Amino acid sequence: MSEGAGKAQEKRKIQAIKGVRDILPPETALWNRVEQTAHEVFATYGFTEIRLPIFEETELFARSIGAETDVVSKEMYSFDDRDETSISLRPEATASVCRAYIQHNMQQLPQPVKLYYMGPMFRRERPQKGRYRQFYQIGAEVLDRVRPADTISGDLVKELRRDAVIDAEVIEMLTTFFEKTGLEGTALYLNSIGCKECRPKYVELLRAELAKVKDKLGADSQRRIETNPLRVLDSKLESEQPYIEKLPRIADHLCKDCAEHYVAVKRELDLRGVKYHENWRLVRGLDYYMRTTFEITATGLGSQNAVCGGGRYDGLVELLGGRPTKGIGFAIGEDRLILSLQEVVKRSSDTGVQSPLATRHSPPLYIACMGERAYATALGAAKTLRNAGFRVELPPVEQKFGIALGRAVQLGAQYALILGDNEVSSGEWTLKTLADGSQRKVTEQELIAAIRSL
Ligand code: AMP
Repeated sequence: MSEGAGKAQEKRKIQAIKGVRDILPPETALWNRVEQTAHEVFATYGFTEIRLPIFEETELFARSIGAETDVVSKEMYSFDDRDETSISLRPEATASVCRAYIQHNMQQLPQPVKLYYMGPMFRRERPQKGRYRQFYQIGAEVLDRVRPADTISGDLVKELRRDAVIDAEVIEMLTTFFEKTGLEGTALYLNSIGCKECRPKYVELLRAELAKVKDKLGADSQRRIETNPLRVLDSKLESEQPYIEKLPRIADHLCKDCAEHYVAVKRELDLRGVKYHENWRLVRGLDYYMRTTFEITATGLGSQNAVCGGGRYDGLVELLGGRPTKGIGFAIGEDRLILSLQEVVKRSSDTGVQSPLATRHSPPLYIACMGERAYATALGAAKTLRNAGFRVELPPVEQKFGIALGRAVQLGAQYALILGDNEVSSGEWTLKTLADGSQRKVTEQELIAAIRSL
């Protein structure tokens, strides 16, 4: 590189890459509260947190999500490690949870094992509102080793019931979580996509019916007739809707076990008072789902309105080399949840109603001090106040009192602690209420009680 080019390079302002963004304060406070709500709600349902690696062997995702899916074939960030192992940034976390379940022998633990996670995922999608290349998910998974006792006794009714109860409890937990965050305008959509017994037959039927109307469909759907006909049901293309609406519906083609399981899930949801809409066109993009699938949408998100997707994946652990284990889980799109909550906060500030997650930062207490002795006293006071949980602003350089008080107002402080020579000598500190300029004297011992009483 020539010297000139080197200089130009130095001056170029480096931006975050496309589809990847910084999340800045004060928005980060909302993220923290959402995550805290997840920790609290999930714990009440007996879930514990798992922290997973950001990257894994590419094969983990190829085998679980499906090598032919868009996520794996087009959207993964993959690279060869120095030992030439192909590695990928995780596009989702269910596969990693299952890998960890097998690797750490969690089949030996009392079942089902209930885990949740939160963190960034990576998919090279076309960026738009609510769709990013690094996005965040909060998810939970229930893994339930198939107990030999059930297989031997063949107590299928009991087993179907157990699965249905687990499905319904996971969905109930989700709705509780969304309620606690204050999310509005949510709708839960539910479907059963059958199992490896009944789905292939339905898919063939669908393929045959789609072939009859092929020339009425767009290019994407035409391609999918061969690759993945179920995904045609996902299509939003206006011109295709009349043809899709006439296609055979999976509910009419479920095998006996799937049909019973689906009925049982709906009954369990009814018992819990969870409202849902059945949507026969709800299929999920990833290969490993079976039976229960669901999605939750929220308002204020435009076309990317799904805040959560999930479903059952009974064969996945086995596919990854573990023993037969059932599974169900969901992933909440945290970015979209936050976008929707910001709409709620905006609306609630218009109407004066407080949203449960509206920003509730306590205003800082400003310490204005003049002189070396006062500075030493201020350091001690700041430490004591912070230990007691107060937010304290202590300017890094000495400021004239007038300037200090102006800065305090700018930062949103309601009170200032004023420490000058007089205050330090007399041991009587000045506590000023910025709104009306009133002042009172307090001793060091009285300080915390005095501030709490304000
Ligand atoms: P999935 O893992 O595809 O089932 O997605 C679960 C949820 O994650 C979706 O309902 C979205 O809320 C969210 N999500 C998926 N992809 C993205 C993305 N590229 N950007 C933002 N959120 C996403």
